[in-house]
Amino acid sequence: MSDPLLHPGSPRGLYVRTFGCQMNEYDSLRVQRLLANLGYVTVNDIGQADVIFLNTCSVRGKAEQKVHSFLGTLRRLKDTKPHLKIIAGGCVAQQLGAKLLDRFDHLDMVIGTRAVNSIGRMLQQVQESGRRLACLPDEESDGPRLDGRQILPHPSITAPVTIMQGCNNYCTYCIVPYVRGPERSRPADEILEEIRLLDESGVREVLLLGQNVNSYGRGLDENITFVDLLRRIGTETGIARIRFTTSHPKDLTDELIRCFAEVDSLCKHLHLPVQSGSDLVLARMNRGCTAAGYMEKISRLRRICPEIALTSDIIVGFPGETEHDFQKTMELLEQVRFDNLFSFRYSDRPNTRSASFPDKVDPEVASRRLLELQSFQAEITLAKNLAEIGSTRLVLVEGPSRTSNGQMTGRTTQNRIVNFQAPLSSVGQIVGVKITLAYSHSLGGDIIPA
Ligand code: SF4
Repeated sequence: MSDPLLHPGSPRGLYVRTFGCQMNEYDSLRVQRLLANLGYVTVNDIGQADVIFLNTCSVRGKAEQKVHSFLGTLRRLKDTKPHLKIIAGGCVAQQLGAKLLDRFDHLDMVIGTRAVNSIGRMLQQVQESGRRLACLPDEESDGPRLDGRQILPHPSITAPVTIMQGCNNYCTYCIVPYVRGPERSRPADEILEEIRLLDESGVREVLLLGQNVNSYGRGLDENITFVDLLRRIGTETGIARIRFTTSHPKDLTDELIRCFAEVDSLCKHLHLPVQSGSDLVLARMNRGCTAAGYMEKISRLRRICPEIALTSDIIVGFPGETEHDFQKTMELLEQVRFDNLFSFRYSDRPNTRSASFPDKVDPEVASRRLLELQSFQAEITLAKNLAEIGSTRLVLVEGPSRTSNGQMTGRTTQNRIVNFQAPLSSVGQIVGVKITLAYSHSLGGDIIPA
């Protein structure tokens, strides 16, 4: 392949690989849009890439291993294509910085989580000087200002919108406060403008992102809370659906709970990570709430909004977790009956407090507990999906289904995936679907004529 530096008019390929959370997905979209301004076109085939951007995750040991192994596999590609530039961003990049350059001598650039806006300038420096660079500023490089019309590389029905970055909570197992820094909220007017632009470009649903969205507004000059922001998005934009993640149970206020009944466009789904059902474990995690406190909030949510779907995160095998603690978690699962659950086996993350905690749980015991918990939750999820049969749900049509041939796919307000026969022209519409089939991860149904 010709060197695009020698042929600046020819299109240049950008391959993006994202590991980890939705915040990383959002940053990857920003990178695509920023590099599109320099003439880069996103490619799906890594062989066509002139630049590879690897957005890394270090929240769990397994995710970090995947990043290291993917980086290792790129060496051969770089050998066959010397002009190729490989960039690592995200949490591993922020944490390891120049050490990542030392470890992988085919890596050209490391860019921290607060330097995404500088990626174009930094890439040009690397290309012009031939030097390898690490860019890890303490502050946001020039603010996460985005143009909603340009952020999405492809037309899309749903779009993420970051409303804040960072976290001040310091849960003992979590690296986020170290790699994403303290909480910083974006001004409300900027967020509203981005959502209006997304709405104009055909987006119907936004997912508001932040490590702890409930504390949105702290530190801003304007006097605004997350509840105010939600209400403003509901009344001042035309967006059809609003979702948000992630919420911390300790900051879930009654005002926010009321929004599920009062803000029409707010979807009836809340992801509320509990992490454990044992108060002893929750205290060691520094979660700032008890199992009973969590249950009380769940009861209030269901009283205000009976149709709300609830999902959560659980960490199994936290240091010191006994069989009794684990059974407390199983009891909580039985009481709440989450619609879905993301569960993980604990792993030590560098620089976190829990990494130095004694009484590590035997990995085999932790794996057995995880399996037990996941199979119990699978039964609950399937039972909940089966209970949907016969109901009629409003579904936002997102596009052709990847798994069911010739069908469309979309989501209910409770975030359940539904597949059904519908014309391509239905994409972007909210349609009624009678649910006739239920599986572990999705539903099937028949569209109801308007
Ligand atoms: S709330 Fe806790 S788990 Fe969530 S990002 Fe902050 S420190 Fe990490």
